[in-house]
Amino acid sequence: MPSHSPVARIRNLTPSPTLALDAHVKQLIAQGIDVINLGLGEPDFNTPSHIQQAAVDAMQQGFTHYTATAGIIELRKAVAKKLEAENSIVYKPEEIVIGVGSKQLLYNALMTLIEKGDEVLLPVPTWSTYEEQIKLAGGKSVHVPLKPPFKLTAKDLEKKLSSKTKLILLNSPSNPTGATIDPEELKKIAKLAVKHDLWIVSDEIYEKLLYEGEHISIASVNESVRERTITINGFSKAYAMTGWRIGYAAGPKEIIDGMVNLQTQTTSSTASIAQYAALAALNDSQTELVKMKNAFVKRRELVLSKLSTIKGISFSKPEGAFYVFFSVEKLLNKKYPTSADWAKALLETQLVSVVPGEAFFAPGYIRLSFAAAEDTLKIALQKIAIFSESL
Ligand code: PLP
Repeated sequence: MPSHSPVARIRNLTPSPTLALDAHVKQLIAQGIDVINLGLGEPDFNTPSHIQQAAVDAMQQGFTHYTATAGIIELRKAVAKKLEAENSIVYKPEEIVIGVGSKQLLYNALMTLIEKGDEVLLPVPTWSTYEEQIKLAGGKSVHVPLKPPFKLTAKDLEKKLSSKTKLILLNSPSNPTGATIDPEELKKIAKLAVKHDLWIVSDEIYEKLLYEGEHISIASVNESVRERTITINGFSKAYAMTGWRIGYAAGPKEIIDGMVNLQTQTTSSTASIAQYAALAALNDSQTELVKMKNAFVKRRELVLSKLSTIKGISFSKPEGAFYVFFSVEKLLNKKYPTSADWAKALLETQLVSVVPGEAFFAPGYIRLSFAAAEDTLKIALQKIAIFSESL
């Protein structure tokens, strides 16, 4: 009998804490327990119907086969058009790859760029997937600690540079903090990357969910930055398409070729019908996207105004994404000494699920997703107030 123990590579992997929490909550809901789930990072909206219809049409027209591994040419052209029009970066379709969600493309990018021992600068609080994917690629994450309001600066990164630094991982707007990088800092970070000959992976998945300022893609700063940047984006958050598993990456052709090569031997292309749906998302009316964004604007205001009345909770206003990352440090006590205990007790006593900051290397904090209906948010916030006052 062979050992049933997975090899070290897998044993050393920390499972996604948010997905684990979500599985637990879904189990409780299946048992008939009425939990308000503000844990997972996905829009509560259904995919807009014209996008769904595009997938149905594609299926009926026989687009149910393997596609080119890098994705159908029409979609790569549409992505190139979007990146030029909205982000001021010019890419040829062969510099673009479509993949199974931005998560997979991020992994493929790191696998293509990182070698054993390479260091990756990772601003923290951060999404745990980055940490684990860097590990899988054989690299070492070097945390760049940020304090509220969690705005990354070039100086923060500079302090952590070493001779082994290979790559800077950027995520603006950020999961979990909702913070963005200010344009002036973005330019300084770009300069730093050029000076020290570093790669940049820029995860811009929350680009469309921005409530303050304007989104700037770091690759648009100048040609030498574009030459060292992989821009990653997708359809999950902006178009409410988390289940379709589709995203894209753009960058220098040699690196994109490497990522496509990896895809040829792992997943092949993503689903053909998801690609036609994404094509409709980019090419057709953006009215639904605007409606969803407007709903997020209202929800954000609602959550922030309610949270600000709860004693002991403090937060920085998220500039983008659909999370509020608030501190509960003042509410921790002997009974609930950590934010993980706090979140567990909130779930057990008030049936509200949120993610503790430990999942983002930021103990003392809580991530609350406001991707839920306003009435649901009102009830949840009331319950959080009751729980906080009971401590
Ligand atoms: N990047 C960030 C920062 C995220 O928060 C998420 C999902 O939570 C993703 C990427 C993954 O998105 P996708 O569904 O495109 O794989």
